[in-house]
Parts: sequence; C-alpha cells; structure tokens
Amino acid sequence: MNKIVLASGNKGKLKEFSELMNNYGIDVLAQSQFNVSDVAETGTTFVENAIIKARHAAKITGLAAIADDSGIEVDFLQGAPGIYSARYSGKGEKANYEKVLHTLADTTNRNARFQCVLVYMRHGDDPSPIICQASWEGSIDFSPKGNNGHGYDPIFIPQGYECTAAQLSSEVKNTLSHRGKALTLLITEMKNKGLIN
Ligand code: IMP
Repeated sequence: MNKIVLASGNKGKLKEFSELMNNYGIDVLAQSQFNVSDVAETGTTFVENAIIKARHAAKITGLAAIADDSGIEVDFLQGAPGIYSARYSGKGEKANYEKVLHTLADTTNRNARFQCVLVYMRHGDDPSPIICQASWEGSIDFSPKGNNGHGYDPIFIPQGYECTAAQLSSEVKNTLSHRGKALTLLITEMKNKGLIN
C-alpha cells in the first residue's frame, strides 16, 4: 500500500482521510508517528498555510503529504476570523463563536462561509502541489443551537437550511460541507494525475 503522511495532529481528520484514502489503496499515517511537530502557520491565506504544513511534513518524513487548512469567513468582519478561526478568542471553541456572536450583535449582515483548502505534495520540494479549495455558504445565527460537530457549527446556518450545522447529522454535513467538497475535488485530481486508480 502507498503511504501518505497527514500533516495534522487531529485524530478526527486522520480517521476521515484514512477511511477515504484506504478505498484507493493508500495508507494515511499521522505525522506524530514520525515525530513531526506542528509548524508555525505563518501564511496570510488558507492556501499558504496548507502548503507550509504539507511541505514541513513531507520534508521531514520523505513521504508524500496531505494538509488541510480551514476556517470561517464573516462578511461583516471583512473575512475574519478566516485563517485565525482556531485562535480567534485565544480561549477555545466556545469562546470563539461567542466572540463572533457578540461582534455581530447589532447587524443584520450575517453572511458567512466556511473555507477548506487541501494540498497534496508528492515530496518536500514539489513545485506544483495539488491544491483544492471549496466553500460552504451560509449565515450566522443569533444564538448557538445543536450539539453535533465542532468549532463554529452551533452558530452557522447553511444556505437552504433552517437549522445550524450542529443540528445536522455528520452524514448530511459531510455531503454539504467545505471539507467534504474539497475532499471530492482532491480525489478527482489525484485520479486525473494517475496518483490513485
Ligand atoms: P484548522 O483545523 O487548523 O484548519 O482550524 C480550523 C478552525 O476553523 C477550527 O478550529 C474550527 O474552529 C473552524 N472550522 C473549520 N471547519 C469547521 C467546520 O466544519 N465546523 C466548524 N468549525 C470549523
């Protein structure tokens, strides 16, 4: 089986990528298995940060690497928290979405979207990594609702729905979400480039 390292310490992401890639004869390994530590995400875009993470993992392990970078953009906040979604409040996930709710308290402009970038690098010096980006449009609710998912799900109402992402099952969320769509794009691109069958 071909091996790819996942440039993330997140166990949920490892499971998601492993299940999908196993279908194509690829073994997805955690970067922690190779003692790859987290690298500083010094880019100013999702694309830059995903490339930084993939390159770091590929260089240290000598394997092909996949990395993702994701977050939520709020129009009223000129795209913030964006690449800083995970560290927006500095006090964890609940405080992050509470900060967004607080900041939008007096506005009806509640448009927002999740973004996900996936990068595949054949090796650490790959000059043309595969880059896939997908978004999930929606709006910010006035109060948190639902217990599924993570991060900003309790305050995100997907376009066409009247509930939050945290009130959707993971099966439904995976077919709609930025990450689900980016993964489908990545598989298609990897097939087109003959990296998987
Ligand atoms: P990353 O894991 O470093 O890419 O951080 C992305 C951050 O964006 C997470 O900490 C979440 O706060 C947020 N985020 C990304 N995708 C989602 C999602 O599907 N639902 C809720 N929050 C998300």
